[in-house]
Amino acid sequence: MKDLTQKIFDGDISALSKSITLVESYLYKEKIKAQKIITKCLKKPSRSLRIGITGIPGVGKSTFIDTLGKELIKKGKKVAVLAIDPTSSISKGSILGDKTRMTKLAADNNAFIRPSPNSETLGGVTKKTRENIILCEAAGFDVILIETVGVGQSETTVNTLVDFFLLLMIAGAGDELQGIKRGIMELADAIVINKSDGENIKNANNAASIYRRSIQFFPKMKNGWETKVITCSSIENTGINKIMNIINDFDYMITNTGWKEENRKKQKIFWLHKLIKIELGNKKFEELKKKNNLKKLENKLNLNQSIYSIINSIK
Ligand code: GDP
Repeated sequence: MKDLTQKIFDGDISALSKSITLVESYLYKEKIKAQKIITKCLKKPSRSLRIGITGIPGVGKSTFIDTLGKELIKKGKKVAVLAIDPTSSISKGSILGDKTRMTKLAADNNAFIRPSPNSETLGGVTKKTRENIILCEAAGFDVILIETVGVGQSETTVNTLVDFFLLLMIAGAGDELQGIKRGIMELADAIVINKSDGENIKNANNAASIYRRSIQFFPKMKNGWETKVITCSSIENTGINKIMNIINDFDYMITNTGWKEENRKKQKIFWLHKLIKIELGNKKFEELKKKNNLKKLENKLNLNQSIYSIINSIK
């Protein structure tokens, strides 16, 4: 086991893949192994940025991630791509994270793409994503891109896993606000209108103006950030550098204000609560809360204990 963790620390991709398989396993023995690895990985400091990317199917998520990822690598970053695929029970996991959809990144040694597991429920895929992020960070990946398909609940979940939330859109025929719920737009740190190329540039610019106007009426973000609206073409690689600058500015701001750390702590507590409810039931959760034991468990998070090992300790 020590070997596998050490290999992850050395950036060994096959050790990373193996460990993710352990995390996603349903076998008790493998789950325990995975927890030991995660606990060690949590102790390794990382200066990563976690970015969620969502949008309806066909908006260009994989093309965008392919182009953005490649540009990030040019700037010296190592990029991991994980997918949350709420439709995988129908598609058998082929919609998201498929390496053939990100050809430039797939061929790059500084990138790691993990296809989403087959026929999982939404909760099933998502509850393991957190741990997979930790493994990727321990393996030296400093930008973690998490892709979700925009079909509802998955986008709000992704916001509890990431630092920066990017909503990818395309210009519609006059009904720009369709398809994506306002609540999701309100969560976005950046709204990016993709496919701004050729004859579509004018439409994309118009859509951007409409979004810029509508976000003025959204509630202010708690960290003081103002949502940015920008156009890009993932195919022609225009606007991507501007997006990277926005992401950099955001990371600089949240790191310096302490919001990044504070938000990650809150996310951990959110997941501890959520996973206690999933694994042990609502009744047990309420019991722990009443007896003031929940706080004690939350404190264990500060000691870098993994969420599942905390849950196992009270099973
Ligand atoms: P996803 O379903 O959101 O992952 O979308 P894909 O990345 O698979 O893209 C869907 C289609 O849109 C593909 O045919 C892409 O080639 C095309 N596409 C993606 N980005 C752009 C872009 O910036 N400009 C144009 N014109 N087409 C794009």
